[in-house]
Amino acid sequence: MPQQFAARRRIDVPAAVSVLVCLPALLTSALIVWLIGTLGGTMIALIGLLGWLASGALAFVGTAEEILATSLFRLRRPTPYETATFTSLWTRVCNRAGIDPASFTLWIEEHDDVNASATGGHIVAITPRALRMPPPLAEALLAHELGHHLKNHTSVTLLISWYALPGRTAFRAIRAILALITRVGVGLLSEGFLVGIAFIFVAGFVTIVIAPYAIPILVMPFLHAASRRFEELQADDVALQLGYGGELRAILSHDLDSGVDARRQRESTYSRLLATHPSVTKRITRLDTRTATSMGIRR
Ligand SMILES: [Zn+2]
Repeated sequence: MPQQFAARRRIDVPAAVSVLVCLPALLTSALIVWLIGTLGGTMIALIGLLGWLASGALAFVGTAEEILATSLFRLRRPTPYETATFTSLWTRVCNRAGIDPASFTLWIEEHDDVNASATGGHIVAITPRALRMPPPLAEALLAHELGHHLKNHTSVTLLISWYALPGRTAFRAIRAILALITRVGVGLLSEGFLVGIAFIFVAGFVTIVIAPYAIPILVMPFLHAASRRFEELQADDVALQLGYGGELRAILSHDLDSGVDARRQRESTYSRLLATHPSVTKRITRLDTRTATSMGIRR
């Protein structure tokens, strides 16, 4: 089966789109790091910027990944019993893709749900409940996670999270400033009409000056979330290509019956626009369409 995947660990279109949509925040981050560095002089700023740029590579070093897994993602190493089960499931999935299973590290996510996740360059995690599922279903979950790794979604997401950190801080600051401007403006309008009008002119001027920087940063989280949702569909495609389409569909159908989409419908539009996963219905529809296409059925 698909040896095709062995040579295909490359950046996928949605991951590249993620980088593009986050570019304003990444550049803003670089600018912030540079500006802070200039407080100590140009040389310090240059060293600081280069050091910050190089720091992203550290996230993929084995020891750093271990620290990230345990401290940031709150994962733990599997027990000997869990290791035996997890390794055999993971090996079967990787064998189908022609990938070396040993190039990944296996972790347990202590959670009651049925879930699995992929993070960084090599981390694959599963919940104890998912590990107890019938093997083909657990393998389908893991095949989806392997899809994220093969298309480099996880590496790109980790790098973006790291490099966008100063930009995200700026995003929060801009949001707070805009909220303050609005609050003060409303207050002044109630105090006196002329003072309020003067304030609106000043606020308008400030907004026009910061808009070229603020708008891309304010829009970025929504575009990034949209590209993350597309990455989920791409990872489903990999599971399907590895022969786990039926099992993945069964898991998604169970999610649908459990009311996942119904709960999502009750969320605000703002939350839905920031969701990192598409609706279960959308994932099932895509799986069905892809399955029908691969079987040569026209609809
Ligand atoms: Zn996923």
